[in-house]
Amino acid sequence: MMSFSRNRIITIANQKGGVGKTTTAINLATALAAIGENVLIVDLDPQGNASTGLGVNRRDRTMSTYDLLTRNASVSDTVMETAVPHLSIIPSTMDLLGVEMEIAGTRDRVFRLKKALQAEDAQAYTYVLIDCPPSLNLLTMNAMAAAHSILVPLQCEFFALEGLSQLLDTVEQVRDSLNPDLDIQGIVLTMFDARNNLAQQVVADVRAHLGEKVYRTLIPRNVRVSEAPSYGKPAILYDLKCAGSQAYLQLASEVIQRERSRKAA
Ligand code: ADP
Ligand code: MG
Repeated sequence: MMSFSRNRIITIANQKGGVGKTTTAINLATALAAIGENVLIVDLDPQGNASTGLGVNRRDRTMSTYDLLTRNASVSDTVMETAVPHLSIIPSTMDLLGVEMEIAGTRDRVFRLKKALQAEDAQAYTYVLIDCPPSLNLLTMNAMAAAHSILVPLQCEFFALEGLSQLLDTVEQVRDSLNPDLDIQGIVLTMFDARNNLAQQVVADVRAHLGEKVYRTLIPRNVRVSEAPSYGKPAILYDLKCAGSQAYLQLASEVIQRERSRKAA
């Protein structure tokens, strides 16, 4: 497939649930939109937390990532505006649970999302962030095949590194077979609690293992961040001043910096 994509596609993945994928997708996207980038979130989790967290009601989700993956629908067919200027979303519905069965027998099953995101109408966005389900299934494979890079949230807990090697092995396999150019944008440590000695130790361990791949920004555990989705808002809009929002703004500047140095390379 010829590739003329001008957008940057970043997949946010970790097969563990509850590590901060969706929170990172929503707030990183909002931070990028706030500096004037045109941003698209692709909600690939049947739970639809990114859609709900951005205030998209279930009854309004007439077209979704399900239609993109199974019905050849385009980005412009499925995209919805959010309350955040410059931020759009392709929402998800529970129908996504059926995608695997529906497309498993097709030859292009892993490249459905890539095809949609390389089309001309998807080039209106400078950044596309894909929020993955907590699994290394066909949905996540579509996201990895479509992406320029992958961003991995890791929760600052004792088992943080467990499962990461499986994820990194999968990235290697994807490079070998589906997407040779897949980069690791970075690894972001989430829900950090400075008062917890164990969390400090986890940060030190992860940095020792993974070095520069780990962003300098630590996302703190912050109650404002966890409250925001119930108001259908990104934390950055709900409470810009809180430590969690400020950390996500910082993360966005690191992400942009890495994108720039990649371009220059
Ligand atoms: P995932 O998408 O990986 O399953 P989520 O982003 O949904 O993870 O986060 C899991 C839970 O943790 C959610 O209830 C979310 O609100 C909460 N959470 C995520 N990040 C933070 C944070 N920095 N501070 C406090 N709570 C957080
Ligand atoms: Mg999620």
